[in-house]
Amino acid sequence: MSRSLKVSEVFESIQGEGASAGQPAVFLRLATCNLHCSWCDTKYTWDFNNHVYEDEVTTRTVDDVRRQIEAATARRLVVTGGEPLMQQAAVAELLGELPEDFVVEVETNGTLAPNQELARRVDQWNVSPKLSHSGNRQGLRLRPRALSALAATERAWLKLVVADERDVLEAEQLIEVLAWPKARVQFMAQARTQSELLARAPFVRAAAEARGLGVSPRLHVERWDGRRGT
Ligand code: SF4
Repeated sequence: MSRSLKVSEVFESIQGEGASAGQPAVFLRLATCNLHCSWCDTKYTWDFNNHVYEDEVTTRTVDDVRRQIEAATARRLVVTGGEPLMQQAAVAELLGELPEDFVVEVETNGTLAPNQELARRVDQWNVSPKLSHSGNRQGLRLRPRALSALAATERAWLKLVVADERDVLEAEQLIEVLAWPKARVQFMAQARTQSELLARAPFVRAAAEARGLGVSPRLHVERWDGRRGT
């Protein structure tokens, strides 16, 4: 029998962030997260004190979700959340049944190691460990073993959300401790709105360039002001 997934939303758009920004993709946004970032832009996936679970989350079989994904025009799947690895057994089942021509990306906060099936099938890991400004305790947000397992796939990118000089210094230390290859590291401005993005992007770009790192755009914020389902 097919497993089930707690789904927040499925939609087609373009990948707005990271190494494949600009590519058309079908997004599977899964509910629940093991972190509670103060500036999270998808609180509707986990903050059920302020969002109604029954309105936000649908429990669906893997088969049902797979059919919807296969019917999409795009052949790039971005599994996001929330934290999708909280449902990794069902995600692995879904990916195992998906046609091989699908390129698969997973967005993760880097706190959970992927199982072997996932580690093999996922083409690109977009790993975004959280810094202290997220408001999560260090022991919860930084899990070295999970980060090492993701790094070992050699298909993982670090995407570090930064807002100011303090964040940049903290991010720089983390990159060093993890010995993550610089060619697969990007800074991304903390921004939920176009005005926040406009204000922070120049600083973030300069900080990244000065350290030989990449910069991730936030195309969905640029184009749609971070509107949900875009
Ligand atoms: S890890 Fe991601 S989804 Fe979870 S609270 Fe933080 S920003 Fe939101």
